[in-house]
Amino acid sequence: MILLNIKKGFDLNIEGTPLPELAELNKPAFVASLPAIIPFIKPKLLVKQGDMVRIGSKLFIDKRNPDIKFLSPGSGKIEKINYGSRRAVNEIIIKLDNNEEYVEFDVNKFSGNKKYSRDDIIKSMMDGGIWPFIRELPFRDIAVPDFMPKALIVSIDNKEPFQPDPQVYLKEEINLFKTGISILKNLAENVYVLTSKDFINIGMADNLVTHKFSGRYPADDPGVLLHHIRKDSYENRAWYINGQDVLLLGSFFSTGRYPVKRIVALAGSLAKKRMHFKTRIGVPINNIIEGRIADENKARLIAGGIFRGYTASRESFLGFYETSVAFIPEGGKSETFGFLRAGYDRPSYSKTFLSYFNRLPLTTDCSLHGEERACVNCGACAKVCPVDILPQFAFKSIAAADIEESLSHGMLDCVECGLCSYVCTSKIDLCGFFKNAKQAYYKDRA
Ligand code: SF4
Ligand code: SF4
Repeated sequence: MILLNIKKGFDLNIEGTPLPELAELNKPAFVASLPAIIPFIKPKLLVKQGDMVRIGSKLFIDKRNPDIKFLSPGSGKIEKINYGSRRAVNEIIIKLDNNEEYVEFDVNKFSGNKKYSRDDIIKSMMDGGIWPFIRELPFRDIAVPDFMPKALIVSIDNKEPFQPDPQVYLKEEINLFKTGISILKNLAENVYVLTSKDFINIGMADNLVTHKFSGRYPADDPGVLLHHIRKDSYENRAWYINGQDVLLLGSFFSTGRYPVKRIVALAGSLAKKRMHFKTRIGVPINNIIEGRIADENKARLIAGGIFRGYTASRESFLGFYETSVAFIPEGGKSETFGFLRAGYDRPSYSKTFLSYFNRLPLTTDCSLHGEERACVNCGACAKVCPVDILPQFAFKSIAAADIEESLSHGMLDCVECGLCSYVCTSKIDLCGFFKNAKQAYYKDRA
């Protein structure tokens, strides 16, 4: 086992962490699939309103590779298909029936401990709708199956606030996790299982974990591990999968059914119940939050993590990759003579606030506390960047449309953690710049 000490990063000490408690949500009346928020894909619909589907029926494919299929997380009737601008498919809403009928996939040939054919496994994963859970660095698109990566990284921890606790989602599921890992071992030259040094063993076979890290957010990110272990540029291209999705993989190969179970964290300072819920992929957000939120009109709903998530609507559904819902205050109130306050309870990276000495979880809101200004070369962004980019210079090259220069500053290594945007003295959304620039570069190359 290799120990890594990641020196850079930042832990946001804010109120709202979900308790390690788990409750089961009632079965929702509807579930949905949200193609528009799956990065890069070009969806082609295979269903229309009124069609009947089972759990595991094909809903749409990715036109770039029609073998990549997205399956129905529910059994019932296609109630509605909502389109956005330019006919982008936003939501495919399924009204659930009582039957919970499944499409059955043949996975019997994968039983036992033998070595399976890589092509057979990939085909089964594609048919079973599991393939999109494996994504590829550095662009974080769905993995390209023809490529044999040197590394496939499984990240168990969730250091970003407020994602599900691995102690909760792995509890009593270790066997599924082991099954998932044994399947993954057929797909890459090496499978690396990354977890925190502080992770309490809950029965996992020690030999599964290959790397342990100590450090702050985003030390658990597969891109950070890759940055610290790769030996040449070929290894820049690696695959990764989240720990909870390994359970789905294990479940699929154990049952032959498209797995829809999800452990979702409800968190944030305005959540009255901060805990974990057992529910399903594509659950209505209202199903998770109803009766569990304080001061709803002043709250912002964030799906998928405080740094990497997005503002979601209460009427929407949880996306394919998202496993958390957080409620934090909108903020935006002006503070009279705010600059004179000592800031003992204001979360900040800056050591000029007294909160630097406050170890209690602090309440954050969505205020920017100022407007975007020109970079003042303070260097705060570089101090937190876990992959040693100099964000201030990479950003300036992107702003000047000098892509070669931004690449030389390591733009492709960016793990899109959002820390540089958070700490930026001048309120520049550096991470947003890098994300857009990486996507544009990727699309141009394609
Ligand atoms: S450049 Fe910013 S978003 Fe990218 S890894 Fe560094 S700190 Fe994170
Ligand atoms: S934190 Fe913001 S202001 Fe400071 S060097 Fe980085 S980009 Fe410039």
